[in-house]
Amino acid sequence: MKYWMLISNPAKWNIHQFLLDLKNNKTQQEDTWVIHDNQINQIKPGQYGIIRIGTDQRTAAQRNGLERLEKGIYAIVKIISYPIPNIPENQNKQYLFIQGENILKRSYLVRIQYVQNFIDHPITLQEASEDSVLNQEHNLINGIQRSIVEIKEETFNRILELKHLQSFEEDDRLLTESEQPLLTSTEKETMIKARLGHSKLRLSILEERDRCELCNVSNEKLLIISHIKPWRVGNAEERLDKENILLLCPNHDKLFDAGLITFDNDGKIIISEKLSKENRKALNVNEDMGIEMNDKREEYLKFHRERVFGLSQK
Ligand SMILES: [Zn+2]
Repeated sequence: MKYWMLISNPAKWNIHQFLLDLKNNKTQQEDTWVIHDNQINQIKPGQYGIIRIGTDQRTAAQRNGLERLEKGIYAIVKIISYPIPNIPENQNKQYLFIQGENILKRSYLVRIQYVQNFIDHPITLQEASEDSVLNQEHNLINGIQRSIVEIKEETFNRILELKHLQSFEEDDRLLTESEQPLLTSTEKETMIKARLGHSKLRLSILEERDRCELCNVSNEKLLIISHIKPWRVGNAEERLDKENILLLCPNHDKLFDAGLITFDNDGKIIISEKLSKENRKALNVNEDMGIEMNDKREEYLKFHRERVFGLSQK
């Protein structure tokens, strides 16, 4: 999967006002972004991007009472169309300061949807340059004269991590893997319902269980809804079935998701031989651990043992 950085110059495109309006529900979540001709076969719906805002050179008049923006990462967007011709009907000029700019001259644009708005708490480039993952993304730190450029998956994941967007990653990312390249409005609706279903599911699980099923981590912010039969391969019913869910802390979720641990029909843990003694100790897993079992769980775990744990053993 490709990830993108959408580069915004606040003196040309009034991204500042746009993000404020977005926050206050005064504008639509959807917008467009011009791309470069050599990217038309690479940019596809379902991919994600970040909005980078560079040096704010707006005049006081352009700022219209607003403070200058610090350089930084201000939003996460999702690409929602294949490249389409950059013709007036497809452009959103509402927030444009300068007419006749390059962005109007390029041949293609894509439709994007803002899925996270960080206008109140951006990740500043100062912070990014001090982060050992983000500072490896040179175009992020130093800037580049492009409207959109590819970034590394690690960069994108690190941004999610810094913003505590684990659950966003879980439901939104996996939706992408399974969705068709072009979505009809009915399919879109199904996706939105699935996402809402996921947050409801989390809430109702948290009402019943209050800690990691393998250890005592109980801080709600850390607890993860971990699907036994993975989300991306489950059908709608399996995705929302509570018996298909383990509530786990980050370590145990990751181990389970990576197929480094699974459980037998009695609920007793099976630990992969790929996990060394040191790692077992560091990650707090041992042979005495287990989960409560029932028939439904047994069925889902059979899948996990064969397809998730099994594959990781090879
Ligand atoms: Zn745990």
